[in-house]
Amino acid sequence: MVKLNGLGNEFFILGGGSNVSFVEDYDGQIIRFEGKRVSVTEKEEDWFVEAEAGVNWHSLVQYLINQDIPGLENLALIPGNCGAAPVQNIGAYGSEFSDYCYQVHTTDLISRKYHVFDAIDCNFGYRNSLFKESANKALLITKVVLKLPKLWRPKLSYHGLNGLPVDATPKTVMEKVIQIRNNKLPDPKSLANSGSFFKNPVIDEEEVKRLRQTYSDIPCYSVDGTKVKLSAGWLIEKAGFKGARVGDVGTYINHALVVVNYNKATGADLLNFVRSIRDKVQLMFGVTLENEVLLMGRDGLITL
Ligand code: NAP
Repeated sequence: MVKLNGLGNEFFILGGGSNVSFVEDYDGQIIRFEGKRVSVTEKEEDWFVEAEAGVNWHSLVQYLINQDIPGLENLALIPGNCGAAPVQNIGAYGSEFSDYCYQVHTTDLISRKYHVFDAIDCNFGYRNSLFKESANKALLITKVVLKLPKLWRPKLSYHGLNGLPVDATPKTVMEKVIQIRNNKLPDPKSLANSGSFFKNPVIDEEEVKRLRQTYSDIPCYSVDGTKVKLSAGWLIEKAGFKGARVGDVGTYINHALVVVNYNKATGADLLNFVRSIRDKVQLMFGVTLENEVLLMGRDGLITL
């Protein structure tokens, strides 16, 4: 963990908090950027949208769609703030933050230097970016700048959206995404959860061939011709954990990838439960699940 100059305390930059589980009482400082300004500039071919890090992501998506500025509709209802969006390169239904990122503005809390990253320099990957690297933990994201092309076509390849007509409007797509998410995912305000707990594993084509011999129906999505993405939710369901519950911690009844706290599950309960999922999946499939949700312990982030 990095230490703040002068103060000597450990600190952690928190966005909306929707992708972090505090499994112990963190013994450091929490820093949040609260700026909430949004501005839109229209150019000939694109809209440029500047949103400060404290803007709620879904509010931004709704605001833009209601202004007839399309592009972010598939990313509707993702919890959290704009400042967190580049960190894990949020994605859903075939769209990713990186598809629309133009710049990420940061302040280094140690050197106090302001730095603007162009999208190409953010090292975006699958639920990953340069901002996740431990060397960059002092970078406070203050603003994101999005570039939304006026030339728009709906992205309807994902199950649930593929029934929409090809001339569907951005608003129709957004409303469909909201409907699907509301049906499938628990609202964190009424049932505590941090969304998908594990990342979808990306493995070699060769390994998939091995898995197909035992599990012929295993869902696979080609990533780049040599790598293949598996569905973590499917693996967990096959391992018998869909709707499983141990005390107050469990997986959601409608979605095995979402771990929920039914009432008073402790950090230790959560860790024991998710480790048992990871171990069973490893044993059955030989595939290692990695947590997507950040786990915060007393001294900083902990590994599963
Ligand atoms: P799903 O339909 O049960 O599919 C399982 C996984 O397979 C998805 O996570 C998705 O990977 C992949 N997939 C499905 N159709 C695909 C296609 N046509 N092309 C490529 N990959 C495909 O998925 P789900 O759990 O309901 O989630 C739907 C979308 O919402 C996904 O994109 C998911 O990432 C997103 N989501 C994210 C969170 C979160 O907390 N991060 C929570 C819920 C849903 P990808 O994840 O790579 O898209």
